[in-house]
Amino acid sequence: MAVVEQLERASGNGRRLRLANPATLQPLGEVDVQSAADVRAAIECARKSQPAWAALSFEERGHYLERVVRVILERQEELLDVITRETGKPRVEALATEIVTSCDALQFYAKRAKQVLAERTLPLHLLKTKKLRIAYKPLGVIGIITPWNFPFLLTLNPTAQALMAGNAVVLKPSEATPFSARCVQEILDAAGLPEGVFNLVTGDGETGEALVEAGVDKISFTGSVATGRKVAEICGRNLVPCTLELGGKDPMIVCADADLDRASRGAVFGAFANSGQVCTSTERVYVVDEVAEEFTRRCVERTSELRQGADGEFDVGSIILPSQLEIIESHVEDAVARGARLLAGGRRNPNEPGYFYEPTILTDVTHDMRVMREETFGPVLPIMRVADEAEAVKHANDSRYGLNANVWTRNKHKGTDLARAIESGCVVVNDCMVTYAVAESPFGGVKDSGIGRVNGAVGLRGFCVVQSIVIDRRSGRSEMLWFPYSQRTLVAIKRMMRFVWGTSLGRWLS
Ligand code: NAD
Repeated sequence: MAVVEQLERASGNGRRLRLANPATLQPLGEVDVQSAADVRAAIECARKSQPAWAALSFEERGHYLERVVRVILERQEELLDVITRETGKPRVEALATEIVTSCDALQFYAKRAKQVLAERTLPLHLLKTKKLRIAYKPLGVIGIITPWNFPFLLTLNPTAQALMAGNAVVLKPSEATPFSARCVQEILDAAGLPEGVFNLVTGDGETGEALVEAGVDKISFTGSVATGRKVAEICGRNLVPCTLELGGKDPMIVCADADLDRASRGAVFGAFANSGQVCTSTERVYVVDEVAEEFTRRCVERTSELRQGADGEFDVGSIILPSQLEIIESHVEDAVARGARLLAGGRRNPNEPGYFYEPTILTDVTHDMRVMREETFGPVLPIMRVADEAEAVKHANDSRYGLNANVWTRNKHKGTDLARAIESGCVVVNDCMVTYAVAESPFGGVKDSGIGRVNGAVGLRGFCVVQSIVIDRRSGRSEMLWFPYSQRTLVAIKRMMRFVWGTSLGRWLS
């Protein structure tokens, strides 16, 4: 049984999707694949409600978001039931990574949007007779498209930012995890959010494509590189701005002076949390030769302590989509066929009915293996020995991806220098994955990992039109550059140039 099955609707032309719990394969329910007409209707609804929403003060919009946090606190058990049933992830993990992080994002943007988006005056370095105001205005209607790995957080976090900036939202969640997004709609309704400000459309790629084509004012897309490319093509054709938060192949660099206990625990957490289905999962390790054996031994030991399951207390849950399980298997098979050694796992978990892959450690890996080049998005930790840090950085950068990375050393200055040398949007020193949860931190990738940033002040401003208003302060009769041009104007410009760039006072003033 697949987690998502296509059903033809009994009447009419629409399709429905039937979903199952990936850990137990128990049925979860059905959702509609909404049509392009449904998407247009949702956008219409958003357009109608947006001006009144934008007219509210930051405090008023913030109060709605703070009410959402209170509803989440009240309903957390119910939300956890839905998220864990839909994804098969451990309850503790769902609480920490989906619910806590969502509450923090809601509260963070509710409190800080006013300061980040306040209209401001900027002093001018040259045209002293003018004044510059920068205004952050809402874009209008934001289309948000989300993946299945964090179905609650990745729905609420961009929504909170878009709403605080004064926009309305039409959101299309992954077809594999629509029920968490439905919960988001329910809690926003329970918090009294005005009708039409947040609109949910369910469905698969067809519905997503309809949303990208339908004429929203920005697309905030999180998902795979392949889909991101299609989204960017449509956005390019229609000149719609977009941010693309795409896949990763995050490297981990372990220096000879690393705290090996912490680094090995970090490696095991970074690779196996959410069963490796995190865009910032540790997907490949480069460990300096002199500590490689000890580091690997500790990783294997930590991994043997992990409990995989679906019930009660466990550490590693299921793979959310069966197609993902096939990718994971094929990467491990390819690596083993090319000479990699399996030190743990390397197979589906035979004791579970659902989609489980055992936490897997590979050594003797090389850079021609798929597991070192393509996003595995599963619980696989390939470890490669390198002679030194320079070789580690060279391999880390030998990738089409550049989302996140992590570096482990007791010398924080060296850690920061290595971080700067890595080609990626985000890097963590002596920790892993945490970037997305640091609300102040802009998050996003370089190379194939994406375009643009979410989160922090930069992300919040990305949901705005940045308008520049230049105001003349003197209002004299004319300006030096206005018609008619004359020899006098030419001489005056040359005199100005001599003063501004030819004297130390001029350079200091400018
Ligand atoms: P996906 O690209 O298959 O789907 C993402 C979303 O796009 C889904 O809602 C899907 O229905 C929709 N979609 C599919 N075809 C579309 C089309 N033609 N036009 C518009 N929308 C379309 O990705 P996924 O498998 O759901 O998610 C896993 C991927 O997401 C991984 O590569 C992972 O690294 C990435 N991801 C990135 C981040 C980040 O912040 N950078 C976060 C989480 C996941």
